[in-house]
Amino acid sequence: MTIERVIIVGAGQAGGNAAVKLRDEGYAGEIVLIGNEAHLPYERPALSKSVLRGEQELRELLVFNEEKLTQINCSFLRGTTVTSIDRLKKTVTINRLAEDAQEKQDEELAYSHLVLAMGGRVRTLDFSGVENDNILYLRTFEDSLAIKQCLENSKRLVVVGGGWIGLELASTAKKMGLDVVVLEFADRLCGRVMPAEMSDYLLHLHRSNGVEVRLNCAASSVEQKQEGGLVVKLHGADATDSLHTDFIVIGVGLIPNIELAEDAGLQIDNGIKVNQQGQTSDLAIYAIGDLANFESQALQKNLRLESWENANVMAQACARAICAKEPQSDQIPWFWSDQHATNIQIIGVPSAWPEPILRGEVSSGSFSWFYLNDGHIVATISVNASRDMAVAKRIFAKGITVSADEIGDIQRPLKSLLKK
Ligand code: FAD
Repeated sequence: MTIERVIIVGAGQAGGNAAVKLRDEGYAGEIVLIGNEAHLPYERPALSKSVLRGEQELRELLVFNEEKLTQINCSFLRGTTVTSIDRLKKTVTINRLAEDAQEKQDEELAYSHLVLAMGGRVRTLDFSGVENDNILYLRTFEDSLAIKQCLENSKRLVVVGGGWIGLELASTAKKMGLDVVVLEFADRLCGRVMPAEMSDYLLHLHRSNGVEVRLNCAASSVEQKQEGGLVVKLHGADATDSLHTDFIVIGVGLIPNIELAEDAGLQIDNGIKVNQQGQTSDLAIYAIGDLANFESQALQKNLRLESWENANVMAQACARAICAKEPQSDQIPWFWSDQHATNIQIIGVPSAWPEPILRGEVSSGSFSWFYLNDGHIVATISVNASRDMAVAKRIFAKGITVSADEIGDIQRPLKSLLKK
């Protein structure tokens, strides 16, 4: 007997949205959503922002609530880990605590389509003293609550890693009145993903808000003091002394959870390799969200994006493909971050950053940098300028040719370029 069942592995933002989108697109078969966390699927951006400040609770982050789960008729196996995929038999092995069982057991479950949405796990650091209750990482809701508790009971924080999550955390902690030091091993902030002018801006933003940022500097060991607190020894070109702190949060990136796919023989290349619809090298298996490396036609290259927008767009694309619907238009990579009351939005992921064209004044705190290639926008960074961003997205999507003079001329409404 053939079954019509989509199994979704990973009940995070991409997996949760895939379940909803499948029904929206008219999928009539069975949907089984399997997640190893204890919760319904939830969105993570607030974990480094409002959750830390006690302004949002888990129920406000959910992709859907219990009522919606019933409405979309989805079997949800929480606290359940998928441990292997058998592509020949089209089954997955799950490990869970079944009803009336004393301990977790393995079971096999058959699929007609499989969606891999296992996201990633935090990259950990290995230095002397790193195993300490006061050294934390941030990926899950529980991680965020643990950090929140430390923020409420501490005066000093050291953040290891000057990437987006580390900087958002630093900004939140500063707002809560802590002394904050950010250690970044590279010579600039967000250097892996941002151009130099943006790194400089972020450095200025944090320092002017009272965050101490040390570049070319990392933690080499941590010692627990008997009287409480930690001493962090530093290394790196500009490391001089050691630091005293109450706790440390390490934010040095994500490792995509690709092992299941790798063991099953799927094509891997900086994530699970998929086409624009999220389809892997096995046509019955899709991969979406943080772990998927997809073909972007808009940017003419392969991309693995770790962003809210990408999790949603890929969920929709794979649901449409499973339902044999026409592909939707290609996504324009979009990301945002909130730091020190500053909203930063970015579109595009150029291989190399061209010379920026500035619209507005950096000193005003509201401006955009545009990056052009042959008269086409390949990226835009807007700082407290969401109107610029909204128009930039449309110019980008329509492929309108623009000049540096037109972009830089603040007397001319950006919107007028849409009529070209
Ligand atoms: P996840 O949401 O991580 O979901 C994957 C799920 O799969 C997890 O629940 C995991 O436990 C589960 N899983 C893994 N392996 C298995 C297995 N074998 N069996 C069963 N379940 C499994 N993006 C932005 O655009 N803007 C922001 O401001 C922003 N802020 C962020 C702040 C934080 C603190 C974090 C952590 C992320 C932030 N992001 C932001 C990124 C965004 O949240 C992610 O890109 C998004 O969550 C990716 O969704 P996903 O479904 O791919 O992965």
